[in-house]
Amino acid sequence: MKKLDIAVVGSGIGGSLIASLNSKKNLVLFERDKNLGGCASTFKRFGSYFNAGATTFVGYEQNHPIKEIFDEIDFKPDLLKSQVAIRTIQNKKVLDRTKDFDKFLEDINEVYPNKNNEIFWKTLKQIDEKFWNLKKLYFAKYSLKAYIKSAVFVAELLKEFKFDIFKSAKGFIASTLGDISHEYQNFIDAQLFITVQTTSKNIPLLSMALGLSYPFHDVYYVNNGMGHIFDGILKNVDTHNKEEVLKIIKKENEYLIKTNKDEYLSKNVILNSTVFDSSSLFEDEKIKKYYSSFKFNDQSAFVVYLKLDIKPELIHHYQIVLNKNIPNCISNSFFVSFSDVNDEVLSSKGLSITISTHTKANFWKALTTSEYENKKIETMNYIIEEFLNNFDNIGKDNIKTAFSATSTTFNSYINRFNCGGSAISIKNALSLPSCKTPFKGLYNVGDTVFAGQGWPGVALGVKVLNKELNEEF
Ligand SMILES: Cc1cc2nc3c(=O)[nH]c(=O)nc-3n(C[C@H](O)[C@H](O)[C@H](O)COP(=O)(O)OP(=O)(O)OC[C@H]3O[C@@H](n4cnc5c(N)ncnc54)[C@H](O)[C@@H]3O)c2cc1C
Repeated sequence: MKKLDIAVVGSGIGGSLIASLNSKKNLVLFERDKNLGGCASTFKRFGSYFNAGATTFVGYEQNHPIKEIFDEIDFKPDLLKSQVAIRTIQNKKVLDRTKDFDKFLEDINEVYPNKNNEIFWKTLKQIDEKFWNLKKLYFAKYSLKAYIKSAVFVAELLKEFKFDIFKSAKGFIASTLGDISHEYQNFIDAQLFITVQTTSKNIPLLSMALGLSYPFHDVYYVNNGMGHIFDGILKNVDTHNKEEVLKIIKKENEYLIKTNKDEYLSKNVILNSTVFDSSSLFEDEKIKKYYSSFKFNDQSAFVVYLKLDIKPELIHHYQIVLNKNIPNCISNSFFVSFSDVNDEVLSSKGLSITISTHTKANFWKALTTSEYENKKIETMNYIIEEFLNNFDNIGKDNIKTAFSATSTTFNSYINRFNCGGSAISIKNALSLPSCKTPFKGLYNVGDTVFAGQGWPGVALGVKVLNKELNEEF
């Protein structure tokens, strides 16, 4: 039986980054799917390539974990800077989120005028800048040392920001901008939905600042598909795709790993499966109980994939904000990402488009087969119609391929019904899963553990995990 020092279960952002940092150790990365990258993978269907979920790449800059990790593994991604991070369209009103603060302020004052726009947006930007400059960003549990280091981080956070950043985001909007229009509120909430998975009603100021400030950073388009990045990250990693980990049995000082192809003994196991889905991998009652203690976050994605037969000049990312919720979804907006016209893989013969919005996983799970199919078509057609209403240079006839994915589809490919982390608040901070578990040699990584979702959030969690892991070697 093959003996390992580290078994990484899953090649999502978290699993791939931690594997790349430890590739010189005796490590194997297992991925059940054919494609690498999980929610950030790229797949081929009907002869064309599509980004499965993630399309924007943020955080490739100084003081950010992604840049630090990529530099450490000597990997330079093939990126293209998006001149506009995201273009929002609401009732035909267009607003560009640009990195240039003065330009953005000028634009927002025209579209959503408010005498305190400058102070509002400047405060958010300053909080975001300070956060990414904090030196001791850290969160782990289940050892005295980890608790002490986490306490040092919280103390640094409070010294820098005081308790104000844990006050309600909604309260900050009211005290700064006053009674804003329904449209302005929708604009703010739609952007928060894509970054922190909820609206200003449910989060503290810190989460709102981080969520709304990502367009003030450099935002990149990944050439040849988001999934292409994983080929680079994993170039030195022993990667076994199409090999699913089915059972992990705790032995005295190691774990027996049973896959659909083989068996391995590993001293350490890093799970990139979600904390909600990990319990079923184990037989040990204590480990099962630990993973079952995390309440399922019933948040997921509905995604529409389109292939056009034309290549109109468009920017990379748009957000369309509607006046009412999309059928069978929990949001009134959708995010549209176009492949770059010069992308030789995604844009061969026409643009590839990924459109995503938010839905509940349990809703789709509860449907009968025919209800499921009907509702899926209803949602897809509604989104396509609204998409066409907002892009005059694209006609229905230009759509050559159209299909969609629900939370159930995500589960069948990448083992997860839930997509999207929970925003950190005072209420949930202590119950947040950390990279360290109470079990020696067993670790978590990915967007259901600290620090949360997307490239920047998951990479931050990887940095913390890497410190923990290397204390053991
Ligand atoms: C529609 C959508 C759009 C998004 N857009 C963006 C964006 O534009 N920018 C951004 O930064 N983020 C975006 N995100 C968020 C981001 O994609 C995720 O937070 C991130 O990719 C999650 O990474 P992860 O490490 O948690 O791994 P996951 O993506 O969850 O991957 C886990 C991997 O583990 C594998 N696995 C699970 N169980 C097993 C097993 N037993 N054996 C073997 N393999 C297993 C799965 O197959 C999967 O490949 C988006 C997410 C979605 C759903």
